[in-house]
Amino acid sequence: MSDRTATSCTEAPVTGRCYCGVTTFHASAPPSFVAYCHCADCRRVTGAPVAAFAAFRCEEVTFAPDEGRVVNTNPGVTRSFCGSCGSPLAGRYDYLPGMVYIGVGLLDQADAYPPARHAHAGEKLAWLHITDDLERDVGSARDHLGPR
Ligand SMILES: [Zn+2]
Ligand SMILES: [Zn+2]
Repeated sequence: MSDRTATSCTEAPVTGRCYCGVTTFHASAPPSFVAYCHCADCRRVTGAPVAAFAAFRCEEVTFAPDEGRVVNTNPGVTRSFCGSCGSPLAGRYDYLPGMVYIGVGLLDQADAYPPARHAHAGEKLAWLHITDDLERDVGSARDHLGPR
């Protein structure tokens, strides 16, 4: 693929793991997009004041030994968690078919993939101040985050 936006550093496989290390994954290509997400769901899932995720094509990502525990809390949203430590692993959204969203903090190469925009900036915590010039999407950034 030549139209990716986050390939500046490397074409080497991307790897990562959960907190306890039982679940690992690798992607055969760099993420097609990385973004912050300020939505309340991502805050709950991660426990962090803001989440940041990397978007991969589903067929490019392999989890080992498996994707752990799968949870469907909201319609159209599937999230998975390490079966051992419970770390959030991935999210899939019916409105963004073919893509899997993995917390950028799980990546071994997280430093190489800075977020490119802020999704759901309208839900940002008032006390959180991130001073960058990235684009802010007040609502969903789905127009920017889907398959490309
Ligand atoms: Zn979110
Ligand atoms: Zn784990």
